[in-house]
Amino acid sequence: MGEKDRLKKVIFIKNPNKIKDALQFFGLDDYSNKKTLVKLHMGEVKNKYYTKPDFVKLIVKTLKKNSAKPFLYDTTVLYNSKRKYVEGYKKVAELHGFTDEIIGCNVIIDDEGIPVEIEGNTYFVGTELYKVENIVGISHFKGHIASGMGGTIKNFGMGGVTRESKRFMHHSCKPVFNKSNCKYCGVCSEVCPFDAIDVKDDKWNINEDSCFGCGVCTENCKYDAINYVKNDLSYFLACATKACVDNKKIIYINDVNRIARNCDCDPNSGPIICPDVGYFVSDDPVAVDAASLDSIDKLKPNVFQEINKVDPYKQIRYGEKIGLGTSSYELINL
Ligand code: SF4
Ligand code: SF4
Repeated sequence: MGEKDRLKKVIFIKNPNKIKDALQFFGLDDYSNKKTLVKLHMGEVKNKYYTKPDFVKLIVKTLKKNSAKPFLYDTTVLYNSKRKYVEGYKKVAELHGFTDEIIGCNVIIDDEGIPVEIEGNTYFVGTELYKVENIVGISHFKGHIASGMGGTIKNFGMGGVTRESKRFMHHSCKPVFNKSNCKYCGVCSEVCPFDAIDVKDDKWNINEDSCFGCGVCTENCKYDAINYVKNDLSYFLACATKACVDNKKIIYINDVNRIARNCDCDPNSGPIICPDVGYFVSDDPVAVDAASLDSIDKLKPNVFQEINKVDPYKQIRYGEKIGLGTSSYELINL
């Protein structure tokens, strides 16, 4: 096998109408007569940048034309929002145009899950997601306050599991202070993007509510005085994604447009920090995120790292390390 054959294929399209050709490239025949889960984030109330119904409709239409039986899917969220409950999320989906009448298929919001073990931790994968074999992932690609960026790995890793697992991931990435190693230099306080740490004289305090588990403090402490409860959020996102996607037929689509500073869970996720790029499609979750991130890096080098102070490539490196996929890809323009 030559070097080129080992690379994962990632299709790039600028024109959304070409999505059917991109989907076909990865084998739509496998979806014929199969219940097909379309995983997407349907946007927080007042958020402007989530993937729009027109594009989702194109995908659903293509799937139905190939005799697939699609339905839109997401899980309830951890934080206080209408989307914390199944009925509330359904109302938000309706408000944003994700209805059977507009899209051409129904919407399922999950609140329960099935346990899957990855790297020694248990993740509760949404029940419907666990049960289906055929999936299309649609992920809006943008910045993220705790993981630098959010794309496919974020969409499945956080969006594919139950609130219990979301809580586990957030809790496990909180820093733990080791008083005996601390030199009270204040570096952790200076680098924390969320002003969660306060260091004064020989006192070190953390505001747990402000901490997002990004890991910037632990990476910058030279004295090994802060560690995670378990690991950083990017690691858990990669592992939870693996729990959701292993042994399934999946085509991943990244909508790399309306690239806002923060995620679609934020009602005020702007400003836009990079011009629109287009759409990336692959059957590898790591390759599709790597290609999307590289494309933004070419236009706006390091923009996510500079704005959110978290290395967005961490998710990709963890993904490779745990066997979720590869960042070695061949980009094909359609
Ligand atoms: S960077 Fe490390 S040594 Fe310095 S104050 Fe923070 S925890 Fe203590
Ligand atoms: S993990 Fe991130 S948000 Fe939490 S205290 Fe450390 S730098 Fe701040």
